[in-house]
Amino acid sequence: MANQFIDTARITVRAGNGGGGAVSFHREKYVAAGGPDGGDGGRGGNIVLRVDPHMSTLMDFRYKRKYTAENGKDGSGKRCSGKDGADLIIKVPRGTVVRDLETKEIIQDMSEEQDFILARGGKGGWGNQHFATPTRQVPRFAKAGLPGQAREVLLELKLLADVGLVGFPNVGKSTLLSVVTRAQPKIANYHFTTLSPNLGVVPMEEGQSFVLADIPGLIEGAAEGVGLGHDFLRHVDRCRLLIHVVDVSGSEGRDPVEDFDTICAELERWSPELASRRMLVAANKVDIMQDPTLLDKLRAHVEAKGCPLYEMSAATHQGTRELMYAAAGELAHLPPVIVFEPTYVERPPEVDTSAPLEIVQDEDGTWLVDGPWLRQLMANVNFSDYESRNWFDKRLREAGVFQQMEDMGVKDGDLVCLYNLEFEYQR
Ligand code: GDP
Ligand code: MG
Repeated sequence: MANQFIDTARITVRAGNGGGGAVSFHREKYVAAGGPDGGDGGRGGNIVLRVDPHMSTLMDFRYKRKYTAENGKDGSGKRCSGKDGADLIIKVPRGTVVRDLETKEIIQDMSEEQDFILARGGKGGWGNQHFATPTRQVPRFAKAGLPGQAREVLLELKLLADVGLVGFPNVGKSTLLSVVTRAQPKIANYHFTTLSPNLGVVPMEEGQSFVLADIPGLIEGAAEGVGLGHDFLRHVDRCRLLIHVVDVSGSEGRDPVEDFDTICAELERWSPELASRRMLVAANKVDIMQDPTLLDKLRAHVEAKGCPLYEMSAATHQGTRELMYAAAGELAHLPPVIVFEPTYVERPPEVDTSAPLEIVQDEDGTWLVDGPWLRQLMANVNFSDYESRNWFDKRLREAGVFQQMEDMGVKDGDLVCLYNLEFEYQR
């Protein structure tokens, strides 16, 4: 189907790697041996998510799934640091929930204005300017940059609206939205009218205006096997109030009570929590109503379930204003729009620590430890955090790194150098 509404997407992101540090020595006429002046590598660019209020679907992600931010540039002589890689900004519609693809934990709910760093760029490597010590005046090495974080995530659009319109196709949801807001949804006497949710602001008195969402018909497509159906219900998940629109005209030979129950059953199937949400019933198309007993029966049926009924005609605007006032009145004492709290716990990636590391002692006695998995690990450890440092230490110990060094003769107090990290060895 052309132009199908897309409301979930899988994407892969990779932040930029840090640039390498430089090995360089200061040179000047008549100055024999200058000191080390190799600059540091630049930081890799971050992957940043940003809300774009004009976006309303995840369509763009269907065609572009991989996002890579720029790497940091290498450092150079004269203490010149390499340029940081540019951040890559990915725009998402408001209300996009970001989940870890594997565990489905919520990483972030993009419901507010703030940008969110989804993957951090790798730190740049230190140039040799940092490695001069009293015993090591000519450091002939610098450090490579650390890799950027990589992630696979699931984006899921859950619209942010106070009130959601639900009901069978063709009952007048889009018409109502167009009458009470400035939104211009497609309206047609056709059962596939609305394929994407539409939002509009209902202007009320100051502080009372609210956002109304036209949720595509639940049955729309599902019955036809097009695969839309109640996937759309994820958009009502957050709504504080539901307005259930029912066609009471009898013009299509439908039974309003049956329609009402069918939709409620669909809601219940999707989420019992959603089905228990406060609901107003809009009995629509009273302007062409042929048999008023249909309306009476519906009223008795829904009021018995605690749902107030409002008669209206979206076509002639009769009763639409009253319905909006009733909705605003309900909202005044309903809880705010749900924002999902992150449940994701940051964990360093699983790395295969069985691969051997390269351990050498340079001429000044400094121990240089290097290897791909070590870089991977270091890129994901926050060294300003005590727990993380302990965890890192444990991983090295488990991998036998310290044992290997002891076999090679490392002594307490020896200088150990792991990328940008230098420390004195202690048993
Ligand atoms: P939706 O599928 O629920 O969004 O329904 P639409 O808003 O697209 O309306 C379906 C058809 O019903 C359109 O032809 C509308 O013009 C018509 N319609 C909507 N509300 C009314 C109403 O109150 N009275 C009459 N007579 N027709 C209506
Ligand atoms: Mg519609």
